[in-house]
Amino acid sequence: MQEEILTTYSFDPRVLLIILTGVAIILAVIMNLILLFRKTYPGFSLWTMGITAFALGWNLILLRDVFPDIFTIVLANMLFLTAAMSFLDGIRIFRGKRTRKIIFIAIIFLYTIFQSYFTFADYNTSARIILVSFISAIICGFIVFELLSNIPADLRITSYLTAGVFILYSTFMLIRGILTTLHPSPQNFLEPNIITAITLLLNLFFIIAVTFSFIMTNNIRMEAELRGTMTQLQKMATTDPLTGIPNYRFFFQAGEQEMRRVRRYKNHLSVLMLDIDHFKKINDKYGHAVGDTVLATFANVCKKCLRDIDIFGRLGGEEFAVISPQTDINGAKILAERLRTNIEQTEIKTEKGNVRITVSIGATELLSQENDFESVLKRADDAMYEAKRKGRNRVVAL
Ligand code: GH3
Ligand code: MG
Ligand code: MG
Repeated sequence: MQEEILTTYSFDPRVLLIILTGVAIILAVIMNLILLFRKTYPGFSLWTMGITAFALGWNLILLRDVFPDIFTIVLANMLFLTAAMSFLDGIRIFRGKRTRKIIFIAIIFLYTIFQSYFTFADYNTSARIILVSFISAIICGFIVFELLSNIPADLRITSYLTAGVFILYSTFMLIRGILTTLHPSPQNFLEPNIITAITLLLNLFFIIAVTFSFIMTNNIRMEAELRGTMTQLQKMATTDPLTGIPNYRFFFQAGEQEMRRVRRYKNHLSVLMLDIDHFKKINDKYGHAVGDTVLATFANVCKKCLRDIDIFGRLGGEEFAVISPQTDINGAKILAERLRTNIEQTEIKTEKGNVRITVSIGATELLSQENDFESVLKRADDAMYEAKRKGRNRVVAL
């Protein structure tokens, strides 16, 4: 019984061919839908063209004996070569390289002439198989080279996997080319033999893997872009553009967080409030642009006086503040004095000459019973106003 099944079963390549064609059509439709409706990057349209050409090519092969040879042999082969060249050029463009359109078209043109010759002048299936096998192997070799040279960091795994698929395909095509050169037998490439079966199965596996890899590659690029935009937005939302230091929002959040941490470890925490003296006069005398330069330099000078763990922010206008963890009021006064003298001694270079400024600073420490950051900030502000009242360019601690 078993033997009977084995012996009476005859392999019909058309079944595999129908499966391959069907799958290729589905994949081509998917690629075209992604190209039409999703975000894609340069190169993806060529990949879509390649998969579509591949699907159409197999469709024409399926219609052999129904349609004239010019379609089912010459055009089909042209489509397969177009597919391979589109994959290659698409990968180049996706990686930011230039297209090689002229070479692309020239190769397809030459190849089509040869295929036409072996179809109409000298009908020779073996010659056509040899031609398609070696050309495919060579183009796949170029694709592997493109995939494995200068791989972008986030595309490493996908590039290796895709290269693996192309190496497999290329190797098989090479073997098929050599075997057909040594034994040029077939009259019809769909003869039910093991080579035909492997060719069809390999193409089925190949087209699924390649489509998947193109979609993955596109998605990875999209994810990277999204991550970049998110980082940029986050930076924009938390940084003051003029001085590059944290803005009020970030400063306040950081303050509340620091306060909770300090509470847990029973540490000290001090806050300084800084306000540039008579800043309006600088604007009035030199103009707003110089005022901006002064603000930026002020922030830089202060930053250099602070430790990494200190949080420095611009609360608005010419008002700045510092959160200094593990610092008691005495430490805060020393720090404030250092900031004040540094500012006083700095000659700020601007487009309208050197400008000197002074700063009034209020210092305060977080009290043991205190629970909200706002009240600490308010006390530092009061201390700063006290410094202004007492004549500016000084430190007052409360
Ligand atoms: P005081 O010593 O009392 O602090 O006097 P002041 O002039 O520094 O204080 P006031 O609050 O009266 O003026 C602050 C000025 O800061 C007013 C505003 O035009 C200016 N200012 C606020 N933000 C900016 C900015 O981003 N760039 C520039 N160039 N000026 C700004
Ligand atoms: Mg001021
Ligand atoms: Mg002010």
